[in-house]
Amino acid sequence: MKKNLVRTMLAAMVVLSMTACGTKAVCDICGEEKTCKKKEALGEELMICNDCMDELENLADMMGM
Ligand SMILES: [Zn+2]
Repeated sequence: MKKNLVRTMLAAMVVLSMTACGTKAVCDICGEEKTCKKKEALGEELMICNDCMDELENLADMMGM
């Protein structure tokens, strides 16, 4: 009984940590399948991978946003 509880908790933690670092999806910017985050821009939902997210942030910095 106790073992089952531990196992259930472990499974729940794995699922939670997976959602925390994003889901695997095709990035709308580079078109590669990577861990992406859903981002809303201009009224559209975009999947953006971490690499493209960094680039966008750099771009935003350069434009003084
Ligand atoms: Zn990308």
